[in-house]
Amino acid sequence: MQVSEATVKQGFKGYNNYGAWLRNKYQGQRVFKVIVDGGFTCPNRDGSKGYGGCTYCNVDSFTPSVSRKAPSLREQVVQGMERARKGNKADKFIIYFQPNTNTYAPTHYLKMMYDEALSIEPENIVGLSVGTRPDCIDAEKIALLESYTDRFDVDLEMGMESIYNDTLNQINRGCTHDDLIKALALVENSKLDICVHTIFGFPWETREMMLRYADEINRFQQIKFVKFHHLHIVEGSVMGVKYKRDPFKLFTLEEYADFLCDLLPLVRSDVVVQRLFGLSDRELLIAPNWQLKKSEIQHYIDQRIESRGIIQGSALV
Ligand code: SF4
Repeated sequence: MQVSEATVKQGFKGYNNYGAWLRNKYQGQRVFKVIVDGGFTCPNRDGSKGYGGCTYCNVDSFTPSVSRKAPSLREQVVQGMERARKGNKADKFIIYFQPNTNTYAPTHYLKMMYDEALSIEPENIVGLSVGTRPDCIDAEKIALLESYTDRFDVDLEMGMESIYNDTLNQINRGCTHDDLIKALALVENSKLDICVHTIFGFPWETREMMLRYADEINRFQQIKFVKFHHLHIVEGSVMGVKYKRDPFKLFTLEEYADFLCDLLPLVRSDVVVQRLFGLSDRELLIAPNWQLKKSEIQHYIDQRIESRGIIQGSALV
């Protein structure tokens, strides 16, 4: 598969990476996500689907500590924008409702929360991103999210986590892969940009099983973005307790980079990769500890992809 000169100029790294996609989409402006905690809960924690949550989850582990301490939504947005301007010279922002299940509330309440977050410097906001579970999406909520698409790009992120119901059951996910398929059917012709989030490295899933995730992503054209995560074990999670008692094999960085090199050629080339790995706060991380900063991990993986000559989607042509 040939990579065009224009693609190279846009920052193609062997995969369709989100940074380059953002620069291209917003004409070189520096666009950053502002993570906010809307104070939502999760049906897999409050008992409506289950208690205790998914076994790998400690909500705090994927919320930056700065967002956790900010008291109000307004302050989180203002402070998040300020940090991104100072630290990253950000020009524009995507408001990202990340922790917990951000469509798990009555629609009028969701509207109030999204409206408030988007009302702060709307001229500098280009997008709204909402993370949720596939079983917490319905036509009314999709219509609400679509109502923002005349002013903002709206990205709906759903946890796929695994394509295997046995895994979803083992991790106490409280929903099935069929729930995701139903949710994807609901947004088939919608104006929303759909992102799915996956986790690789459950010790009972083989490499071949994990590579099959690509087929499942490819078969839904409405999936525009993906976030790939390696399984990491954090404090405050059920898996963390089990791991400390009885540790199991997790990816080394080298193994994970090689796995991604095998996976990416199988993924449709138009799918934009928002993330290749996950990272939790150091104080919460139990394993695997790759002893590198986020930028160093990214660099290592990018180098591996480049040195192996990997091109996303090349196995499909
Ligand atoms: S991973 Fe998401 S769905 Fe699972 S318990 Fe945590 S917040 Fe809830």
